[in-house]
Amino acid sequence: MTSQTNSSSYSESREEPIKGFDDLSLVSDRIRARLKERDISFFANDNLAECIEEGELKELEKEVSIRIKDLLRSLIIDIDNDHNTRETSDRVARMYINEVFKGRYHKQPKVTSFPNVKQLDEIYTVGPITVRSACSHHFVPIMGNCWIGIKPGSRVIGLSKFSRVADWVFSRPHIQEEAVIILANEIEKLCEPQGLGIIIKADHYCMKLRGVKESQCSMVNSVVRGDFRHDSSLKQEFFELVRQQETALSR
Ligand SMILES: [Zn+2]
Repeated sequence: MTSQTNSSSYSESREEPIKGFDDLSLVSDRIRARLKERDISFFANDNLAECIEEGELKELEKEVSIRIKDLLRSLIIDIDNDHNTRETSDRVARMYINEVFKGRYHKQPKVTSFPNVKQLDEIYTVGPITVRSACSHHFVPIMGNCWIGIKPGSRVIGLSKFSRVADWVFSRPHIQEEAVIILANEIEKLCEPQGLGIIIKADHYCMKLRGVKESQCSMVNSVVRGDFRHDSSLKQEFFELVRQQETALSR
């Protein structure tokens, strides 16, 4: 597949046709049109899966790969002769769509919830759950841990499901302040807890790799809902349980 080489025809417009495609049939345009028609937001940390039809992710991989090839050419990398970067565009396209940003393009993993028949109402925490994400501003990694505290409500889900849902939510470009809220919303939808708390502690590579280059700095944030918000002793219990989990780990 050839890439655009005629610089005089270059335009910054997204609509600029690129060689290798019929510009009217770009899969990203078709998906975007569906999203707009259904009035669904497509910010970096949104999930688009319900507007993606079968087979379209393969097409999207190809489109993204061609765009990345153009990016590499603009960075003046000799992708035609450099054996290290010849396949990079394909690798990066697959990585974005199926791995690091899979939480945008793929459906939520199936999570079955069960009625809380024993009416359990003692709080418990799950963690650390690994946070693997990327910052929306620079597309470099955010890596860390997350703890989830639950005071059960009418429904319960298996412990491993928290990790699966967290992985799906974090696998999008994010800012940490919004990631914690999106995760809380998804968990509330799944098991309707009486109380919910989430703490995220993460390293931001946009601070380590670039910018201020602070290697030790991390960010901690949290969200508390329901009884955890209204009952300060319950909130304290949640933070104390997480502290104990962290201490146990560092031994
Ligand atoms: Zn950043």
